[in-house]
This record gives sequence, structure tokens and C-alpha cells, in this order.
Amino acid sequence: MKLNISDTYNKQLPADKNSENSRRQVLNVAFSFVNPKKPTSPKLIHASVELAENLGLDKQDIKSKAFLDIFSGSKIYEKTYPYAMAYAGHQFGNWAGQLGDGRAINLFEIEENNKLWAIQLKGAGETPYSRQGDGLAVLRSSIREYLCSEAMHYLGVPTTRALSLMLTGDEVLRDMLYDGNQAYEKGAVVSRVAPTFIRFGNFELFASRNDITNLKKLADYTLKHFYPKIKGEGKIKYIELFREVSQRTLDMIIHWQRVGFVHGVMNTDNMSILGLTIDYGPYGWLEGFDFGWTPNTTDKQHKRYRFGNQPNIGLWNLLQLANALYPLVEEAEPFEAILTNYKLEFERKSLDMMRLKIGLTDEDEDEDDMKLIQSLEDCLLLIETDMTLFFRLLSNYQLGKPESGLKVVEDAFYDLEQLDINVKTDWEHWFSSYDNRLKLEKRTDSQRKVAMDLVNPKYVLRNYMAQLAINKANDGDFSLIEDFFELLKAPYEEQPAMQKWFAKRPEWARHKVGCSMLSCSS
Ligand code: AMP
Ligand code: MG
Repeated sequence: MKLNISDTYNKQLPADKNSENSRRQVLNVAFSFVNPKKPTSPKLIHASVELAENLGLDKQDIKSKAFLDIFSGSKIYEKTYPYAMAYAGHQFGNWAGQLGDGRAINLFEIEENNKLWAIQLKGAGETPYSRQGDGLAVLRSSIREYLCSEAMHYLGVPTTRALSLMLTGDEVLRDMLYDGNQAYEKGAVVSRVAPTFIRFGNFELFASRNDITNLKKLADYTLKHFYPKIKGEGKIKYIELFREVSQRTLDMIIHWQRVGFVHGVMNTDNMSILGLTIDYGPYGWLEGFDFGWTPNTTDKQHKRYRFGNQPNIGLWNLLQLANALYPLVEEAEPFEAILTNYKLEFERKSLDMMRLKIGLTDEDEDEDDMKLIQSLEDCLLLIETDMTLFFRLLSNYQLGKPESGLKVVEDAFYDLEQLDINVKTDWEHWFSSYDNRLKLEKRTDSQRKVAMDLVNPKYVLRNYMAQLAINKANDGDFSLIEDFFELLKAPYEEQPAMQKWFAKRPEWARHKVGCSMLSCSS
């Protein structure tokens, strides 16, 4: 196995001179060198062949002992120097101080086709940033991260990727629901991949310590490698960096809203400077359409990170990034203008996204479309209605038949008995407005269906599906991981053999831990 190593982060940014792997405050540096923990008996469960190819690896490489060794943390690739990044963050709205890679260890960067890829192991043992944690990850959360990051990629949502999922052969003690019931679980390591894993929190760390020298180094490094198109001198380039990050963050969140993804822990240490979805913890997929839903039991009280609040939280997090970058600019106004623009762009992009979801193209109808979409959302909230099923089925609607609308989407309702006369009337009213609006479009029913099916996925990693894969894997059967991995590579395609996954969440999963309730414990 030959890798085209091209390290930049640990070569170009300041390193911790203390090489001891002890938990501590680490000052004035961007990272600490640390080696992964050797797993007792690593075993490859699954690898993403497509991603491996992007990294210059083929199927034979994946099967090799070298692959197992390197991506489980058993061995260190020649002339590479693994490290943990230093970062801080705001967690659930509060300043948390130094956090850092507590259970992620960066192995190296690879350059392939002029692209830089950083590879990191999640769950490979403690680092100076591990605080009270053990640096390890359990199989259940690793399966969730592995499957979901690749699924998001194929949905067209900007995300970090996952290259491999391995068992370590070690046991990990976890209190899954933070209720005092500790138990041993299987340990696992995911190797994940992104151009860089720098987060908002990396900037916040330096800014909070008034370490402007390193703040500038980090910003310049980020610009040079990941935003090469941003030119300009002095402060301008930091303002432009913030503008780009704001746009990308918003675009990412609009995608989340489109596919019904709830991140669950949008702390600033989980916000990528590239606008990638990062850190798959207690995330979930909307089943019943509900702006108030969050899968994260740790956030049960305030539901800060609920579905409908994600765009606002994106803005709040960007404000923290603006504060962190401020010392490089020393003017508030440019940041304020960008943040104000986020709000306007959010309105516009949400409208455009929802328009695409219901098959509208003509943009002359802005105000009326907004009303049509708002009344659709009101209808979706009347009785429990599966988001994925609803939008996918809606593409079968036939122009001129508003009275048949409800029948077309009927399978999306969880309990047909709740579809009483009032609910029906509201829906019928909506379908007749929808029909009137569609008449202004120039497309045929089948053209509209093709376009809608490209933005409304047929298959997503429903919460109970991930749990089914986990249950089997805990019994040593990894077949569902493979099945779901393949299914979710083509989420917009029909895949008739997989139709059974185009269905509402079964009743048994409604209140089940892992299916509707998840905590940060992973
Ligand atoms: P998260 O909420 O999972 O993004 O984690 C927040 C912070 O806690 C990050 O600094 C993580 O590296 C750290 N962390 C989470 N789990 C562990 C663990 N098991 N061991 C050490 N650090 C952890
Ligand atoms: Mg994190």
C-alpha cells in the first residue's frame, strides 16, 4: 500500500513541544503529537471503495495487512507524525474553553489529483485533549458515523467522509443514557477523511487566549490551502474568508433541512471551517415532520438544536467565529453585514429549496410561493406525516386532479384514523392551491417528477435502520451495514428490491433508545 503523503498542518503550524500524552491545557500551539493506541485485535468491518480510490488506493490495498495496520492505529505509516488538534468551543450556548481532539488522532495528509485529504482515526485512544474521556469509541456510534457520513455524501450534502470501520477487539465502558447504568461495549475505530478538520473552535481557542500570532497563522494556513481563490491583502482576505464560510455553512444547513437531517450537537467545535457536516453523534433523521424535533436526549430540555432551529444556530455559531476573527480585522461592520446577509440569504435559499422540493421552477411567484409553502408546512404538522415519504410521493401528483392529492401521499401518514374531516379539508384546500400554482409551470407531470425525485431522496438512514444494523453487528453479523451502505449510495434512485426501506418507522421504534433517543455518550 503506497500513499502519497503530503503533510501540511503538522509541518506548517506550531507544534506542542511537550510530547507527553497527558491531559493538560496546551498553550500557543495548533496541535500535539500523539500516537494512536494499539488495538488488541483489529478487524476490518467495512471500507468505502469509492473513497479509497480518491485516495489512490484500490480493492487489493483495502484487503491488505498494511491497510488494517494503518487504519486501525496498529502501526504508523512511514515518515508520518500523528497528532491531535487544539481547539475550543461553545457547547450548548456556553463557552467551554479548551476542548481539542479528545478522541480523534490525525494520521497524515494525502495529496491525490491535486487534492489534499486529511485522514483521522476516531476512537484511537487518549490525547492531551481527552479531559475526562478515554479517547475511545464504541461500535454503535462508529457504525452510525460511518454509514451516515457516506450516505450524506451521496445525498449531495457537504460532509466529512468515512474510509473504514474497524473493530478494535477492546471493550469500552459506557453509560449510554447517562443514567448510572454502565456497561461494556465493543470498541471500534472509524477512519474519517476531509480536506481539513479545522473547526470554528480552532480559531476561538487562539482568540480566547489573545494569541493573535497563532490566530493569524491559522487563518493564513486555512486561506492558503482551502480557500486559494480568495486573494486580496490585509484584512480583506479575512473578511472574505468569513463571507465564504458563512455561505458554505448556510448552504450545508439548507441541505440538512432539505433531507430532514438533524445534527443534534451544533456546538462551535462541531462546525467545520469548510462548511462540512462533521462529528456524527446523536444525529437523527426526521420521520414525522416536526420543527421541534431533536434526537439528542442531552438537549431534551431546551431543544436548542431542534430541526427548525438549525439555521438560527448556524448564525449564532458564525457570530462566535466572527468574534474570533475580529482581532485580524478590527472592524465590526464587515462581519455584521455578512451576518445580516445570512438572514436574508437564508430566507431566499429556503424558499428556493422548498420550491424545488414541490416541483416549482418559475421564480416570478415569490410571495405566493412563500404562502403556499407555509400552508404546506402547516398541513404537514396537522397529523404525524413522514417527511421523506411525503415529498417523494408528492412527485406522483397529476396536474388537474387536486381531489386525488391526498390519495397520492396517503402512505406518508402514520395513523390514517387521524385523517378526520378537518385535516382532510385543509389538505384538499392545499392541493387545490398547489394545482393552481402548477398550472403556471411549463413542465409535464413526468418532467416535474424527474426533477423532484432528484431533490427528494427515496432512502435515508432512518434512525431505526441504523439501530437494526447496530443490533446485528453486535451479534457479529455485518451484513446490514453492507446492505445499507449500498442502498444509500443511490438515495434518489428507485431500487425496487429495496422498497421495504421506503416505509414509515415501525411502531416498535417510536420510543426506543437508539431509534428516537440518543445521547452524547458514544
Ligand atoms: P463531541 O460533543 O462529541 O463533539 O465532543 C466534544 C469534545 O469532547 C471534543 O473535544 C471531543 O474530542 C471530546 N470527547 C468526546 N468523547 C470523548 C471521549 N470518549 N474521550 C475523550 N474525549 C472525548
Ligand atoms: Mg466534536
